[in-house]
Amino acid sequence: MTDIKRTLAQVWGYTSFRTGQEDIINHLLQKKSLLSVMPTGAGKSLCFQLPALLFENQTIVISPLVSLMDDQVNALKGIGVKAERVHSDMSDEEKNNIWKKFKKGIIKIFYISPESLMRPSTISLLQSLNIDMFVVDEAHCISKWGSDFRKDYEELKELRKYFPYSIISAFTATADEETRADINQKLTNGKGKIFLNGFNRPNLSLAVQQKYNWKEQLLEFLQGREHQAGIIYCLSRKDTEICASYLSSNGFRAFFYHAGMEKVDKVNVQDRFMSEDNIVICATIAFGMGIDKSNVRFVAHTSLPGSMENFYQEIGRAGRDGIDSDTLLIFGLQDLFQRRKWIYDSEASETFKIKEIKRLDSLMTYCDSATCRKQTLLSYFRETCEPCGRCDNCTNPPRMIEGTEYAQMAMSAIYRTGQSYGSNHIIDILRGVGNSKIKQRGHDRIKTFGVGRSASKEFWANFIRQLVSSDNLRINIQKYGAIEITPNGEKILKGEEDYFYKRIDETKPHKEKKFKKDILNNEMIESDRNLLTDLKSMRLELAKELRVPAYIIFSDATLHQMVLHKPKTHDEFSRLNGVGLQKLNKYAEIFLKVINTQN
Ligand code: ADP
Ligand code: ZN
Repeated sequence: MTDIKRTLAQVWGYTSFRTGQEDIINHLLQKKSLLSVMPTGAGKSLCFQLPALLFENQTIVISPLVSLMDDQVNALKGIGVKAERVHSDMSDEEKNNIWKKFKKGIIKIFYISPESLMRPSTISLLQSLNIDMFVVDEAHCISKWGSDFRKDYEELKELRKYFPYSIISAFTATADEETRADINQKLTNGKGKIFLNGFNRPNLSLAVQQKYNWKEQLLEFLQGREHQAGIIYCLSRKDTEICASYLSSNGFRAFFYHAGMEKVDKVNVQDRFMSEDNIVICATIAFGMGIDKSNVRFVAHTSLPGSMENFYQEIGRAGRDGIDSDTLLIFGLQDLFQRRKWIYDSEASETFKIKEIKRLDSLMTYCDSATCRKQTLLSYFRETCEPCGRCDNCTNPPRMIEGTEYAQMAMSAIYRTGQSYGSNHIIDILRGVGNSKIKQRGHDRIKTFGVGRSASKEFWANFIRQLVSSDNLRINIQKYGAIEITPNGEKILKGEEDYFYKRIDETKPHKEKKFKKDILNNEMIESDRNLLTDLKSMRLELAKELRVPAYIIFSDATLHQMVLHKPKTHDEFSRLNGVGLQKLNKYAEIFLKVINTQN
């Protein structure tokens, strides 16, 4: 057995590497820098932690968030690795003690925030020691293109000058081509090898729904998920509160989370989410990066995220443990309008705005695409895959219908009113609604007034949105959201080209084929389900006693293994995936007892 395989088995209790891990580890062991882009849950941490253990000297890991540091250090201590961290939530005394241990070389892997690291005193201390590797976790924070740019991260570009003899390894889950080049330039002067491990997350299912009543839609999606943990992303702080109270009144254990809350409340909500298994968090994007819970079973959006990258990152928080997890995006034309407005109203440069609009448009195209969602999503990151067979479009292929005439009606109404009105007004004209705004402007006298009377308001809203996402119409935010006809659209208006749209269900969206929801609870025989519940309560009890999140004890995947294999002896227990030496010694006895009392 090679050194790295042996370490993997003894320390982590894993039998094999996941895709990409071994190449990265070998590269680092040759003392070469790199940038690795790996999907969430693919196992990035192991890629730097394992070489750090095998290096002669110490490794510094730079991480942007206190909670991330705590989690990783707890997890490492849990498997017997000498790891520590210093951050702002600790007392000076605590920090001094840790620094002392560090100087003595007792600590192998040391987590620190960028701002503490870049202090002159820290830099000179580290220069006097031998640091084998600097790891920059969440490396996209260094790039202005990423969604989480942080100024203190940008300072890290000085690292390679201060430590020319150490290697730098950077890790992130999201970075398109431009962002990757930017990170690599800043950290390694472009010399780091870039490892791309794909963006595919096979265990995530994708579904998108047109918004008609997000609360009902959400509730339907959540049916049967009462025992699961999940995140619901909302557009505004107010929506998070509305959402949480609605779900609570429907029997879910739901809490809201946003940046406007008191710190104690935020910490409270986070702690519950981390340590319990059936909490739903209704949150703005403020809830995210630090949340490293492995058994999040679903992520839903009640409105359009900011871009494809943001969307990818947000759904990426589901299913880190590799177990099937579901996502749902509910979106409407109004969301697109709001998002565009935010971009235009922001203080960013023009180039930046144009880029952001493009990113948003890609997401809209994704929402309205009629082909496999996985394929559309991955193609944004320049990757291809076979149809996934699990998304809504694969399981329930949308019917395409000729809609040239409808498109001409809509465009003609837009054209005849000077391309100056928003979608609601256009829809009123099409449907022949004679309200005062229409009468005042004489729009009840144009030829198109009432031509689309036979279709509902919902139909037209959806239809116009599809025309927007297929680039036949566009929303002009500078003209307060006026709908305009694009050059592509003109061809349809002139009858030079036909137009097809995705069938629109005017009542409720048809019931989706149910995804496998609760693999833990639905597909198990009763005794196994009981065993799993017992194992989980034991885990929770231990977690409370040791004051660590439950998954630090064992991940859900490992508990499943216990149910599946029902080990009787220490030896059998040691063969479960996720049981290394440390956990074997600490917990085998306790969990074997649970397993064998039941059987
Ligand atoms: P991320 O890439 O999102 O940082 P993590 O490093 O947190 O992912 O890993 C996700 C989960 O996968 C963790 O529970 C980790 O222990 C587990 N894992 C990582 N590598 C392996 C492996 N080779 N075999 C089994 N599980 C692994
Ligand atoms: Zn698919």
